[in-house]
Amino acid sequence: MEKITRRSFVNKFGVGVGASVIITTLPSFLSATEENKIPYTRKKLNIALCGLGNYASMLAEGIQASEYCQLAGIVTGTPAKAEKWKTQYNIPEKNIYNYQNFDEIVKNKDIDLVYVVVPNGLHKEFTIRSAKAGKHVITEKPMAITVKDCEEMIKACEDNNVQLAIGYRLHYEPTHLEIKRLGQEKVFGQVRFIEASLGYKIHDPLDTKSTFNKNDRNEWRLNKKLSGGGPLMDLGVYCIQASRYVLGEEPIAVTAQLGKVYNEQIFSETEESISWQMEFPSGAVSNCTTSVNFNTDRFYASADEGSFELSPALSYGPFQGKSTNGPLKFPVINQQQTQMDEIAKILLENKKLPNHITGEEGLKDIKVINAIYKAAETGKKIIVQ
Ligand code: NAD
Repeated sequence: MEKITRRSFVNKFGVGVGASVIITTLPSFLSATEENKIPYTRKKLNIALCGLGNYASMLAEGIQASEYCQLAGIVTGTPAKAEKWKTQYNIPEKNIYNYQNFDEIVKNKDIDLVYVVVPNGLHKEFTIRSAKAGKHVITEKPMAITVKDCEEMIKACEDNNVQLAIGYRLHYEPTHLEIKRLGQEKVFGQVRFIEASLGYKIHDPLDTKSTFNKNDRNEWRLNKKLSGGGPLMDLGVYCIQASRYVLGEEPIAVTAQLGKVYNEQIFSETEESISWQMEFPSGAVSNCTTSVNFNTDRFYASADEGSFELSPALSYGPFQGKSTNGPLKFPVINQQQTQMDEIAKILLENKKLPNHITGEEGLKDIKVINAIYKAAETGKKIIVQ
């Protein structure tokens, strides 16, 4: 994917006289020029990916395309994958670990950070093991499956003097930075109402070739111990996140309803669909849905003097949208590359990661998710705590 520099951004999107695209502010990371780029003299941030599944492959491509990171190591339980990745990404044998000998990474000065991309229920174990090995950690969303797990992960990182980030890829995406700005700066006044949804229709679960098949032992998303829940954990977290960062507020109470289960055989442990409503201190309400039974990818915010919306909104993009002032059109970026570069720039300078991507942020999402499940089970309004 084309890397966005200030020049290519201007050329491609014709910002300036006669530009038809509405661009209000350019995110700071897109405004670096060759002249004002931070002159890193030291090595790149060396990353080890832990868990080599689907999303790790996307991250590997992002790291390859990045300016400030290098894919230096891998952690996998499958020897065949180790061989394949070793050749594909030129990874030295000494930087390849399995889940048993992983703790030896403590002795490996070549690795600065471990990126945990295993099933949600294993984020805690690998985050804590990485922290104890003195490595910074990025762990995928959702941060973990319980509040206690999140708290233990935060403590382990603090105790071992390493930093913990959550892989929130949309926190660097220009369209999302813009909706965050529109909401938090009250460009159209106070946002009163949000609608957000993310879902996809899974393959026919009875199809033995399906990638979402309960008989497939790799389908950890259907196993509550490994996933923590269904699409709320996997996709709903994006609706919660977007509502929180557009409003700049934390939900105080939630109500929720589980959707119809069309396939009880498959969805015996985790939900198939769920809708929920979040109340915020300003009085704003966010109405959200997530499902693995239908496709949806939308965000809409209604404010006192206007509105803004995206569709597609929360997936890998490219995103499209509009506000009362016109189209919302921003450069298409490689989300994983940008996330990695932005985190690396901070860690390479030994600075503190910003609050909006740390473990405390991940913990807030899990508190909301807990409250949503409780509201769905009890049929009551639940206070988020
Ligand atoms: P996946 O099934 O494709 O990969 C999971 C990996 O974990 C596999 O390599 C598997 O071998 C390994 N693994 C280790 N122990 C395992 C166990 N006990 N059971 C099953 N697998 C085990 O899943 P994925 O889609 O890559 O998701 C991994 C993580 O990344 C999840 O936390 C998920 O929420 C997150 N994710 C994030 C995004 C994003 O956009 N940020 C997108 C997809 C997935």
